[in-house]
Amino acid sequence: MEKMTCNLPGGWIDPAGVVHREVLLSPLTGREEALLAENHKGEYASLVTTVLSRCVRQIGEIRPVPESLTENLLIADRDYLLLKIREATFGSQVQATVPCPWPDCGEKTDIDFLIDDIPVTSSEEKGPIYNLVLSPGAAFTQNGEKHRELTFRLPTGVDQSKVVPMLAQNEARALGELLTRCLQTIGSLNIETIEDIEELSPLARLEIEREMSKVAPKVELNMDINCPECARLFTLPFDLQDFFFGEMRTSRDLLYREVHYLAYHYHWSEQEIMEMPKERRRHYIDILADEIERLNSAV
Ligand SMILES: [Zn+2]
Repeated sequence: MEKMTCNLPGGWIDPAGVVHREVLLSPLTGREEALLAENHKGEYASLVTTVLSRCVRQIGEIRPVPESLTENLLIADRDYLLLKIREATFGSQVQATVPCPWPDCGEKTDIDFLIDDIPVTSSEEKGPIYNLVLSPGAAFTQNGEKHRELTFRLPTGVDQSKVVPMLAQNEARALGELLTRCLQTIGSLNIETIEDIEELSPLARLEIEREMSKVAPKVELNMDINCPECARLFTLPFDLQDFFFGEMRTSRDLLYREVHYLAYHYHWSEQEIMEMPKERRRHYIDILADEIERLNSAV
């Protein structure tokens, strides 16, 4: 597949308030596969931005698409694009092996699905700013005054890259940081630092979290799996980024073998072959295989 169009479940909202949803994307070339296979030590959020900035050709009326735009896309839109780029490059079929999480089992289970079958839910209201009125019990008290009205936006790739590295050290602090970044106002107060939301009660945080997840677009990466060994059901949060970049690493040797094979038979330069996406390389390899078989059977 050389080019693909798809619709973002959220969308990019430009400063004039226009929502851009239709995306034109191209598959990864061999050069990009090699680059990602070798550069796997970075933070996933910035690697995803690298992938998107290389493959996303157009969003709505915007072309070319600057990196500053792809990193500011909503998290679900970025996950969705990563899935679509995987589909355009390697196809829709995904096969992986996961261990059963029941401690007395732990048997390895094969999972097998199509990217097209992953449920994607578009957001109904596009924002970018959303309003919420907290319940009376969750009101925010500041200088003796109670406030219930607040505004927020949804998390983006930039938020992810700022917050994910903090998660391992201090999860509560990381979540507070994310909330500070996404909350815009509470009553008449503009939210700027994590100290601004210190007085927010756990109930208020819960109500905000629920509303955020209600209005956000979704890519459902949780899968229900039946363990074939112990026959119990478990839910697996499919780690998309881990899978995507892991697959890139394991397919690197195959990539170099394909380049060698094509260079050997066609005498094309490495550079020319690396500019091709996988599907085109496979196509030429299939033609060569047919040709070699035809020659062999003619002897
Ligand atoms: Zn099991």
